[in-house]
Amino acid sequence: MLSVRAVKNTTHDAVTRAEMLPGTFYIETFGCQMNERDSETIAALLSRGGMTATRDPRAADVILLNTCAVRESAESKVWSRLGKLAAMRRAGPMPVMALVGCMAQIQENVERIRQRVPFVQVVAGPGSIHRIPSLVRQAREAACSDAARPATKGPGLTAVSPPRSGISREESTQVLPEGLPRKDVPGVTAFVTIMYGCDNFCSYCVVPFVRGPQVSRPREAITQEVESLAALGCKEVTLLGQNVNAYGHDLGDMEGFSRLLRKLNQVPGLWRIRYLTSHPRDFTRETVDAVRECGKVCEHFHLPLQSGSDRILTLMNRGYTRSEYLALLDYIRETVPGPSLTTDIIVGFPTETEEDFQDTLKVLRGARFDGAFTFVFSPRKGTAAAGMKGQVSRAEKSERMQELVEVQSGITAAVNRELVGRQVEILVESADDQEPGAVRGRTRTGKLVIAQAGEGQGRQGSSPAPGDLVTVRVIEAGTWYLKGPVVR
Ligand code: SAH
Ligand code: SF4
Repeated sequence: MLSVRAVKNTTHDAVTRAEMLPGTFYIETFGCQMNERDSETIAALLSRGGMTATRDPRAADVILLNTCAVRESAESKVWSRLGKLAAMRRAGPMPVMALVGCMAQIQENVERIRQRVPFVQVVAGPGSIHRIPSLVRQAREAACSDAARPATKGPGLTAVSPPRSGISREESTQVLPEGLPRKDVPGVTAFVTIMYGCDNFCSYCVVPFVRGPQVSRPREAITQEVESLAALGCKEVTLLGQNVNAYGHDLGDMEGFSRLLRKLNQVPGLWRIRYLTSHPRDFTRETVDAVRECGKVCEHFHLPLQSGSDRILTLMNRGYTRSEYLALLDYIRETVPGPSLTTDIIVGFPTETEEDFQDTLKVLRGARFDGAFTFVFSPRKGTAAAGMKGQVSRAEKSERMQELVEVQSGITAAVNRELVGRQVEILVESADDQEPGAVRGRTRTGKLVIAQAGEGQGRQGSSPAPGDLVTVRVIEAGTWYLKGPVVR
């Protein structure tokens, strides 16, 4: 079993109100939307403690990397970034460096920090982010009292969170206290965590170890958070969890997720509701019906398939067969008008043969997904799949990956081309950074649209602003975006 660092749920008053030494902080976020959401809280906590955010790591007194451990490549990025940041600062005084998020939950990484990157002084897992202000303060105080240290050496790991102890998964529960701050003014879109952890143990996945068991937040707390975001001008929320379809199961409510959608659909001022990530096994017909009936819930279904081979799905411990998965897609397409469907695929899972891989391609060709996130299997220490016999060679994995990307890009391009000439409604999120006067937004189906100023708009007229719902006539369709003028 993987070594999991213990996290206790501490009362957070003292730490969230910790007074900070004045100064600047810089946060870089790796990995999933859950981490983006956590980084927002970390920034709000440090700002309320009296620090100021900066976008320039060269100018920062504190540098935080909020990390991902899902694949080896994600971890490698963080190690190399740490090296670069340290080198960048070699000339001047070292800032306090913090490694937080999922990598901080793995004991081996903490050992590596102790031995090889001693300039990292704060380590805090995802369940301890509310303790970061006091940990940072301790580290800065220690640094001040050790002014004679060599530039690249910190005073050691003075502020480790959580304290080292057992390896039980129960102890690694990553639940955060309610009431932690967010940005003062939310954007047009916001992430809302509805549950922590995961109980699925897909055999390749490190998440249940680093984020602990599933714990759902109370429905009232989520509703209040969404209501207050909407009252402050937020138009779209994305509900976050590792397996949102299992929301409420730990509270004894097997239809908790569809009930939550129905409840949030009534929040005044809110226009759109999205959710991530779904698990095909737990996506009930009742939830599909709720999506159809709730006008604010977007008709985008992200349903990670992982593999089209039943043998591989069993080895992955996914809990569904290819035909069950396809029956769910059929039900969605029959029930909800104009849905978009996206998926995740892993290639090169242990023992995957060319035939298994061709089964995956067959499903992709038949299902015609709007898009797919594709991953090469990465063995994660402590997971069941890492120890399986029949690991696939690097060369085969990359050959399959290439073929997969080619097949799916062709499908995505064809599906998007069907939208050329049609009108789509988008929620404007920001100005486009490439084209003057253009804005970016998404359709309800989750497609990115670059909307160019239409007649009477742009320089002379008024461009659409973030938060506007506008209609765009699609004149160009790529794999990852649609483009066209605003028509109203
Ligand atoms: N809870 C979500 C997200 C998990 S991580 C879910 O179940 O979908 C996001 C994606 O990363 C997974 O869907 C899977 O396709 C991929 N992934 C997870 N572990 C992996 C590993 N060890 N190697 C390669 N891809 C992996
Ligand atoms: Fe990992 Fe599976 Fe849980 Fe997703 S559902 S986080 S893939 S164990």
